[in-house]
Parts: sequence; C-alpha cells; structure tokens
Amino acid sequence: MSYFKQEIIKITLPTPFAVGDVHAYLLVGDTLTLVDCGTKTEESRNALEAGLQAEGYSLSDIEQLLITHHHPDHAGGSSFLREEIPYIGHPGNQRWLALEEAFQQEHDEFFLSLSKTLGVPREYEGFIKYLRSSLRYSGNRTLTSFLNNGDEVPGHPGWKVIETLGHAQSHISLYRELDGSMVGGDHLLDRISPNPLIEPPVKPGEERPKSLLQYNASIKELYQMPISIVYPGHGGNIEDVQGIITRNLDRQHERAMNVKAMLEGKPMSAFEVCIQLFPKVFRKEPGLTLSETVGQLDYLLDLEAIQPEETKSGMVYSI
Ligand SMILES: [Zn+2]
Repeated sequence: MSYFKQEIIKITLPTPFAVGDVHAYLLVGDTLTLVDCGTKTEESRNALEAGLQAEGYSLSDIEQLLITHHHPDHAGGSSFLREEIPYIGHPGNQRWLALEEAFQQEHDEFFLSLSKTLGVPREYEGFIKYLRSSLRYSGNRTLTSFLNNGDEVPGHPGWKVIETLGHAQSHISLYRELDGSMVGGDHLLDRISPNPLIEPPVKPGEERPKSLLQYNASIKELYQMPISIVYPGHGGNIEDVQGIITRNLDRQHERAMNVKAMLEGKPMSAFEVCIQLFPKVFRKEPGLTLSETVGQLDYLLDLEAIQPEETKSGMVYSI
C-alpha cells in the first residue's frame, strides 16, 4: 500500500504582503510534489531551499509542482523549480498565469463596466490599473496539465482534488479520505475568512461569479465531510474544522446584517457602502475592499433582504 509512505511536510516562507508568511507543503508519495511555492522573491527562495534541505531534499529533487490557486504568494515561485517538471492545478489558473493580451483587455473592460455598476467615481477608476499591475507577480510559467474536482493527484494515490471556489475561481484543496487530511490553500484559515475576490467571468460577457455565495456553499459542503485536519496556506493547522466553518458563516451573516442596517432609510451604491465600511483602507486596497463589499451585497440580495435599483450613477441598494 503506497498510502503509508505518504508524508506531508510544511515549509513556511516569508511574503512581502500584509498576510505574512505562507506555507508550502511537500507531499512525499510515489512522486515528490511541492504544493504551492511562495512568492517570487530571493527571501522566499532561500527559505524554500533551507526548508527542503532540512528534510534532506533540494529544489532539483522536486518532481511535480501543484498550486492550490494562482495568487502570487502561492504560485510566484514556480520559476525556482526545474522547467521540465509537471506544473498542475485547476484550469481556472491558466488565464492568470499566461496573462495573454486578450485576457488583460477583458480584465480591464470587466472591471471598468463593474465600476460603473458599483458607482465608483471616475477619479478612482485608476484602481483597475493597480489591480492589473499585481497580476505579473504570479510567476511566468503556465500549467502543463489540469486538475478538476474529483481527480486523483498524480503520484499520490488516495489524494483527491476538491474544487473549493470562492477566494479564487481557480481554487482547489487536496483531500485524503483515509485519514481526513486536507491541504486547504486559503479556503479555511484559523484566524480570518479569506477575501471573496471579484474575478471576471470565465467566459467573457457571462455574469460574474458571486464569490462569497460560492464560498459559503463550498464550506457548507465541507462541514459534512469527516475532515480531521486542514493544512492551510497561512496560520496554524485547523482541527476544529466545523467550528471554523460555523464561525465564518456566523461572522459573515453579522457583517451582512451590519450593511443592511446601514441601508436603512439611506439607499446607497456599493461604492458608498464600501467607503463607509473601509474609510481608510479603501484607498490602499480598493480591490480587496470592493470585493468584500460586493460579497455582503450579493449575500443580502440572495436573502432578498435588500432591493437593487438601476440609476444613472450605477446600482443603488435599499431595504
Ligand atoms: Zn490567495
């Protein structure tokens, strides 16, 4: 049984981002697989080399790279590894990694049109360029093959892929039924809920994915599974999985009710709600704060707790 020679080794890497350190995991099975690879910085590369060395490995020993999602703290270090090894993940990663001209244009058009819907004033539209400038940190390699929901992880019998969308439209987790272990990327974190980031629809012109609703549906499904431990992308391991899921759902509901209360007697656009929720952080992190706000509004709309109304200056929400 190759199950028993499977090992999970955590390697913690520094990032230049507010989130702090990120964890990569070495899966030792029939193949030596690195799950996530940190940012593309010298500090991260050194930490990765040191972490591997402590376990008796070097960068050139890695036989396969797998990413939980395309964000720069998880995929940025892909160029540290041998170019000929398989690089695998959800098909949703590819557009962010390849960054073809057509996608960049699609990205900007989507956010420009969304800004109008959200009531973002012209003077703030520059945030779209800012969003785009961060894309190039996800590394310059593209996936060589894809993993979809239910697939077995190549070289690791017993490990299955679970599509866990919400934080990213490319997000997967790895689950081993034998002992309930899960390598969870940013899906479940011990201290925070991941940001339900807005992304352009996979097919241009389609409706945008409702990231927060996807996220909630996904963690409700995980609640039903016998997961014994989650090895996350940030922070400590999670053993009380149901507790964390309940906390995330409860907090989410509270935040949405807070937004609903703000709209009482005062209809507002998404932008106005965002400024009220994040008066200081908005300017620094427009993408994150708008995603969070849109998530709350999607949640309230889904509950039919608020009413949308189309106006000349975008969508306005009232109770
Ligand atoms: Zn992420």
